[in-house]
Amino acid sequence: MKYYDKLIFELSRPGRQGYELPADKYDTDGIADIPAGLLRNQELDLPEVGELDVVRHYTNLSSKNFGVDTGFYPLGSCTMKYNPKINEEVAAMPQFAGLHPLQDAESAQGALELYYNLQKALANIAGLAEFTLNPYAGAHGELTGLMVMRQYHISRGDTKRTKVIVPNSAHGTNPASAMVAGLEVVEVKSKPNGSIDVEDLKPLLDDTVAGIMMTNPNTLGMFETEIVEIAKLVHEAGGLLYYDGANLNPMLGKVRPGDMGFDIMHINLHKTFSTPHGGGGPGSGPVGVAAHLTEYLPAPHVFKKEDGTFGVTRDGDKSLGSVSTFLGNFGVMMKAYAYILSLGKENIRNVGPMATLNANYIKESLKDDYLLPIGGVCKHEFVFDGLKDKSTGVTTLNVAKRLLDYGFHAPTIYFPLLFHESMMIEPTETESLETLDEFIDVMHKVAKEARETPDMVKNAPLTTPISHPDETTAAKKPILSYKQMKANA
Ligand SMILES: *Cc1c(COP(=O)(O)O)cnc(C)c1O
Repeated sequence: MKYYDKLIFELSRPGRQGYELPADKYDTDGIADIPAGLLRNQELDLPEVGELDVVRHYTNLSSKNFGVDTGFYPLGSCTMKYNPKINEEVAAMPQFAGLHPLQDAESAQGALELYYNLQKALANIAGLAEFTLNPYAGAHGELTGLMVMRQYHISRGDTKRTKVIVPNSAHGTNPASAMVAGLEVVEVKSKPNGSIDVEDLKPLLDDTVAGIMMTNPNTLGMFETEIVEIAKLVHEAGGLLYYDGANLNPMLGKVRPGDMGFDIMHINLHKTFSTPHGGGGPGSGPVGVAAHLTEYLPAPHVFKKEDGTFGVTRDGDKSLGSVSTFLGNFGVMMKAYAYILSLGKENIRNVGPMATLNANYIKESLKDDYLLPIGGVCKHEFVFDGLKDKSTGVTTLNVAKRLLDYGFHAPTIYFPLLFHESMMIEPTETESLETLDEFIDVMHKVAKEARETPDMVKNAPLTTPISHPDETTAAKKPILSYKQMKANA
């Protein structure tokens, strides 16, 4: 371990500090203006370290992070794709970043135009009538979309419709959002390939069904070929179709959810449209709806006036009202807009096919060593059910940890729950052939190690700063402050 890898409190020495304001230059009398009750009555308990110690400590710490800018990050279900850095620069342009949310519309026309154009661009990409950009994340978009669904039925006096059908392979946020929206979750079974079992769906479709939540391609990366039939059945039963478009990557510019029969959807701009994600934000989960649902969308909404200028609506008779502060996460929208414009209609069509090609290339190259429960052409991602040869007891978790020793991030593991040893791999369209080959090579190597030196693989990672953290304790009793850290030392 390097000296600066130590915990910061281990570097602490009583009385050491970075710098001190010279008392004769800076009048500290002003502190007296703070009401006595608010003044700190004890020294702040912080590590006592010099400035150089702090700089080195945090710089070293930052290099221990694995991110998509550090290496290949094949995380399935979460589309960890590279996002061009120029879009960060665009989002930081002071003309936009410096705007105040309470500024009047006349003085923020440029920002509103961008906002309006993005609403339209997403509607175009999705094949839907209108988008709101207000929600902050995918799950927030789901909640907003389901509130639209609920409002639609209620406003028609169809108040019995309180059930939402969700496949058992769905992303965990789907049933959670439905519950938060006050709807009841009914599970529909998946067939072995992860697609919805239409025969199981039929008896569920009665006059208490508000709608169905799905994603296509499904969680296993397979295209739901019976989608047109499913849409027909749900619509005939009076329900609506909700599309989880968090990972629109494989469909981008190729297939439109609106054309498949979906009425409502959300998109994660922070997966598909050029905002890196992980670490909790910022995100954006725009929601799109078909023409018969636009009046229920939340406010504020940006619209174009007859004279070509842009305005902001604050309400509407049937609007859900506000689901976020102001207009949402504007910086994320700027990146999405820059991304869409820089690709253009032509190139955006290549995103899906390239992501799909890369996923299939890895799948086919590795299926001799890893168990592929569902064959056939996948879309942007696929799932292995652990190693083919399980005789040495090496698990998916062991393989995932061993990959770290080779400089690769692990795929998503133990999700979906349909298999015991799930390993969900999504390479995205932005990786080069050389990177994919390197990953395939390493995966083969690990499979060989699992056969020949299984104990070593079970002890991996061997080269990372920490190896086997106690995840339960870390989640249940996290140590988040210096004080707690010292108490636990
Ligand atoms: C990421 C994801 C979500 C949730 O998005 P958040 O922004 O994390 O709330 C929903 N559905 C699917 C399929 C996802 O991959």
